[in-house]
Amino acid sequence: MPQNVYHCSNETIKKMEQAYNHTLVSSPPGAVFRAKTDDAVITAYKSGKVMFQGHAAQKEAAKWNGIAQIGETKSANQPNEDEQTSNLAEKNHIGSDESGTGDYFGPITVAAVYIEQKQIQQLKQMGIQDSKKITDRNVLELAKAIATKGIPYSLLIMHNKKYNSLQKAGWSQGKMKAMLHHHAIQLLLKKIESAPYEGIVIDQFCTPIVYKNYLASENEKLLNHTLFKTKAESYSIAVAAASVIARASFLKEMDKLSNQLGFPLLKGAGNKVDQLAAKIIRLKGEEVLYEYAKVHFANTNKAMQYSNNW
Ligand code: MG
Repeated sequence: MPQNVYHCSNETIKKMEQAYNHTLVSSPPGAVFRAKTDDAVITAYKSGKVMFQGHAAQKEAAKWNGIAQIGETKSANQPNEDEQTSNLAEKNHIGSDESGTGDYFGPITVAAVYIEQKQIQQLKQMGIQDSKKITDRNVLELAKAIATKGIPYSLLIMHNKKYNSLQKAGWSQGKMKAMLHHHAIQLLLKKIESAPYEGIVIDQFCTPIVYKNYLASENEKLLNHTLFKTKAESYSIAVAAASVIARASFLKEMDKLSNQLGFPLLKGAGNKVDQLAAKIIRLKGEEVLYEYAKVHFANTNKAMQYSNNW
């Protein structure tokens, strides 16, 4: 029997209990409640775990938008995605990854890369791996090497102005990432036309259900044969290459922004970044940050305090 396990707040569990009020059955030890609907059996535990079981377990859980999935098992007679996509990384496949999401200054960049089976060894030998494990200089060189080899890729850059206006309009960063990955992969699929591929690997940043919900909110659907994987850079060379291309683009954009501004911007979101933001506010005015930074980060408030105390 398919079963999905989630972690929920007490508040959510209370809401669930009310919603399933008319379908409650006797609950097992340690449970807050158990409900039995036509589609699923829902059991909530005092620990905050909520289990959805039954043929429509996932559909039932999806009604509870945004709850965090912590485990999933599927019945033996259902197609198992893990089996279908096992060794995907050893076949022709697509991978996508992003950069800049944790950096206060600069854009978000997302790349998708198409790798053919016969290129995999060669790319590994080139030293392509998770961009976080490579120096900035090597990232730039490897990105150039990938482009020179003619490996098909797509690259999207969400500049700060756009980022800030979407954020103001209610988009979470997760939704922006999901839409950027989705569009980058679609762009790449157009580029490679009918070249064969076995599947798509996305470096996982939220649960598959949340990702699907983000797409659905913009009338988009998950592309077929998509596999979400944490630490996907070490699993798939296409994701590793995408991480290199996205990072290289982020570094180049940071250089451009630094030139435009007249002094070097800093990566990350630490205390030095707060101080730099304060300097920008003092010299150029607060509104300038809108074009250089992700203004909803806590750094903005800290920078305001610094500049007020100047
Ligand atoms: Mg990633």
